[in-house]
Amino acid sequence: MNRRNRSIFYVLLFLTVASHLWVVGSSFTAWLLLALQFLLYPQLAYGVALRSADQRKAEHRNQLLDGFWAGCWMAGLGFPLWISFTMFAGACLHMVVFYGLRGLPMVVGAMGLGAGLVIASGNWSGVHFETDLRTTLLSMLSLTLFFVTYALDGYRRAMYQHRSEMKLRAQVEEIRALQARLYEQTMSDPLTGLLNRRHLEKALPSAIASAQVEGRELALLMVDIDHFKNINDQHGHDVGDEVLKSLALIMKAAVRSDELVYRYGGEEFVIVLPDCPADLAARRAEQLRRRFMECPVGLGEASINATLSCGISVYPEHGAVGRELLRSADAALYRAKANGRNRSELFASTPGQFDRQPLDEAAGAAGDRPA
Ligand code: GH3
Ligand code: MG
Ligand code: MG
Repeated sequence: MNRRNRSIFYVLLFLTVASHLWVVGSSFTAWLLLALQFLLYPQLAYGVALRSADQRKAEHRNQLLDGFWAGCWMAGLGFPLWISFTMFAGACLHMVVFYGLRGLPMVVGAMGLGAGLVIASGNWSGVHFETDLRTTLLSMLSLTLFFVTYALDGYRRAMYQHRSEMKLRAQVEEIRALQARLYEQTMSDPLTGLLNRRHLEKALPSAIASAQVEGRELALLMVDIDHFKNINDQHGHDVGDEVLKSLALIMKAAVRSDELVYRYGGEEFVIVLPDCPADLAARRAEQLRRRFMECPVGLGEASINATLSCGISVYPEHGAVGRELLRSADAALYRAKANGRNRSELFASTPGQFDRQPLDEAAGAAGDRPA
């Protein structure tokens, strides 16, 4: 309880007891003790606690002393019901708020000690339960104010906690969204929007594991644009980018939801086709090759007719793990390039199985593929 609330409560208690003393008629000493106890003592106790090195311990001591003094006053006044109830309930509540239920026996003990000492010292004139209406109302007011003060504290704390929780939750959501966006960015290619090689390296082993568990085949298509360097050289890098985006769109449109398309490198792409045997993979590669060839990329009034080559490998025939499958698909792609480009080749398949008349008879550009 803060100093202001504590002071108000003690002033009200002072008025309550003063009202009772006035009615029953008391000595000067009783009035002096009353003023010391309810007006001066609380301020002193608060000040001492504030300066103490261990404030919680000091507050605990003060609360026990408050209980002790309350016991003294209750017994000294002859246990008037409303005043006793106000002091008893107030002290118990105060103690439980700070120490939980274990505070109850402590404060009741301190009160009992105070009351017992007064009775034992002979300052005891029997039991006088009655209080007049004014004293009763002041008692009720003191106790109500005490309860309201604590309830208000609890309400403010709950509201603060609620607001903090909401803020924290919003921050956690924001962090999660950022993490998701970051993850997406690290796993995707900004130019084409396709997944990138890092994602492939993570996802391929589990795709192969699923194929193994289900006893199915899994095909890998490695796609490479033919003479892409020439496109860049003749039309510029931006046009080259448009060709890459156009192929990405064609590939995305050509796959099912469980099939994944990756930008593997500069102008190389990988498509993972679960549950896809070799003959179906070859048909899919041919469809893709033809679709790309038949979809020229617009370039102002002109257009570019690019072609692609594709190497195919199939799990488990051409590799038991991702790296082997990729190597097999790459070898098949190499052969597709060697055999004239604009064609697809199955790894270690009979040359010419998927032959198409190469469109581009021009001399190959220098590069990592045979020209
Ligand atoms: P091949 O038919 O043997 O595959 O020949 P190629 O010219 O396609 O292959 P090469 O490896 O010689 O050239 C690939 C080119 O792709 C070189 C590089 O500058 C270009 N490239 C790589 N990434 C990008 C990109 O993001 N945008 C553009 N416009 N060009 C790129
Ligand atoms: Mg190429
Ligand atoms: Mg290449």
